[in-house]
Amino acid sequence: MSNDALPWKKKYLELLDKQEKNEVLYNAQVDLLKRGLIRSSLAAEGNDQQLDDHLQVLRRLLRKEAGNAELEAQVELLEKAVLKSEEKINQRKIAISTVLVSFSEQLQALQPPKEVQRALKAFEKNLNSKLAQPYSLYPLLAELKELQQKTLEAATNNTLTSPAPQGFLARLFKIREQTVNLDVEEPVSEHPKDLVEKHTETLSSTIDTVEDEQLSSLQPLEKNIVASTEDNDLFSLPQMLEPTYSSVAQHIHDTLISLMNDLPFTSQHEQQVLELRSRIDGGLNWYELAPLLDELSIIILDIANGGKNELEQYLLQLNNRLAAFHENLQATSAGYQASAADAQALNEDLRKHVSNIHSDVQTSNDLNDLKTLVETRLDSFIVSLQTYQEKRTHSESDILARFQALVQHSQQMEHEAQQLSIKLEEQRQKALLDPLTGIANRAALNERSELEYARIKRNDSSLLLTIIDIDHFKRINDDYGHLAGDKVLKIIAQELSKRLRKTDFIARFGGEEYVILLPETPLAEGKKLIEKLRLVIEACPFHFRGEPVTITFSAGVGKISPQESLEDAFERIDQALYAAKKAGRNTIIVSELKNQD
Ligand code: GH3
Ligand code: MG
Ligand code: MG
Repeated sequence: MSNDALPWKKKYLELLDKQEKNEVLYNAQVDLLKRGLIRSSLAAEGNDQQLDDHLQVLRRLLRKEAGNAELEAQVELLEKAVLKSEEKINQRKIAISTVLVSFSEQLQALQPPKEVQRALKAFEKNLNSKLAQPYSLYPLLAELKELQQKTLEAATNNTLTSPAPQGFLARLFKIREQTVNLDVEEPVSEHPKDLVEKHTETLSSTIDTVEDEQLSSLQPLEKNIVASTEDNDLFSLPQMLEPTYSSVAQHIHDTLISLMNDLPFTSQHEQQVLELRSRIDGGLNWYELAPLLDELSIIILDIANGGKNELEQYLLQLNNRLAAFHENLQATSAGYQASAADAQALNEDLRKHVSNIHSDVQTSNDLNDLKTLVETRLDSFIVSLQTYQEKRTHSESDILARFQALVQHSQQMEHEAQQLSIKLEEQRQKALLDPLTGIANRAALNERSELEYARIKRNDSSLLLTIIDIDHFKRINDDYGHLAGDKVLKIIAQELSKRLRKTDFIARFGGEEYVILLPETPLAEGKKLIEKLRLVIEACPFHFRGEPVTITFSAGVGKISPQESLEDAFERIDQALYAAKKAGRNTIIVSELKNQD
């Protein structure tokens, strides 16, 4: 080696040394990164099952020192799973926010002291921005718990100390002490504290389930904190709004479930029925009961219509049977024709016998021969007659039997058809009535309004629609209990319906709403009638706890045009009702349409 080469060799060895050190350092860093990645993936677990699966695969690849391509593909999958998981977390946040807002609203309905009300409003206002921050659930729940405690304390104190209670709990307690003057039996009174505890328990379990589900996928840290608050009454919200209902809720639940067990649902209703069942099983508030019954009645009507199909099927069968009947009849008449032919054949036979005897008599010379011949002829003559007689007896009894079978058959068919149509009509009528007020229900209204609408389209006749909504009805329930409210709904239905013509139609549309259809009525006259009804209800002598209470309604009225759809007409007249509410209630607003009379 020349002297020139020496520095290069040294340089090369130095570089080799440096590269080896770099490689060691690089490997150590990669190792560190892998371990870091494995640990952070372990820490990230528990949020989302899909994400967990991808993290597990990633860890396995890292541990077995998989190649870049494999790692890259897995990281790509992981990215997608992370995005999905974030989306789910956002949805959960929205759900949590909805639940918390509804808690807060329920607390406000208890009319807590002003400062608590303000705090609840602020709580709702800041809720979303706070939820956007990590680990925010615990402080929010703690804040709500405190506000709830203050609300309940205030409500309980009010009831126990104030002689003229104002809050809802207080009013509730007062109602329980006195009887409602509408013959409504209220359950025995309970101490408000007991009520609070009782309903706290019921609601806690319901809300716990929802929360468990929602919290299970939140950060583990938050999950732990919430678990540690489990034994206090954080979720004890005012189920006590409906204590009277809750006392019969179990009975209603059992009745509905047994009704649903008894009804002949078809597979077509399976989904709806499952959904209704789960709503019933999930526990109903009394105000959820009416819409549920409405839906159930629509399904029942559907079943009745299914029954109608059954009837159609039956009639088809009846038709086939009648065809068979007709065939039988033809066979019978053919039998008659055959016996006529037999009689004809006998006739000819007899004639032949007589003519043979006649020619025998003419050609015979010997009397003895003639005697034998005639005797033989007479024998066959008698045989012919006997054969005919037998044939005739046989076919007559055959025809008689056929006739009897036919008569029996037709009587049976007639009886079956009658029974079936009676049963169907009964079912139909039941499904079209509102069980509380006894007037038509929404399903019946749908049917009738479509019929009347088709009539105005066909005949150029007229039809008025009125939507009536009782004013401040919630107050009646709140102040006197919903059983008293129910009674009011019933009385109003009776008062309204007895003032209508036979051709008019009234239905309970929903909770405290009624719809009236007035065929062949000029708008001015219809308005006059509704105005009269308004005055009647306003003057109705309702008494609660010995005191007269005035109940009023607001209404929208209008003429349905055949040029608009039925839905549009309902919408338009509902707007008039809304306007009547806005105008101060206890009033009627006419929805004008171009060319109305
Ligand atoms: P508005 O004058 O604006 O109509 O006030 P409102 O209180 O009548 O109206 P809102 O729609 O707020 O409340 C209607 C209430 O009617 C809600 C529910 O408490 C009550 N309700 C609905 N169905 C029934 C029912 O079948 N029986 C009883 N007792 N109350 C019912
Ligand atoms: Mg209403
Ligand atoms: Mg109302």
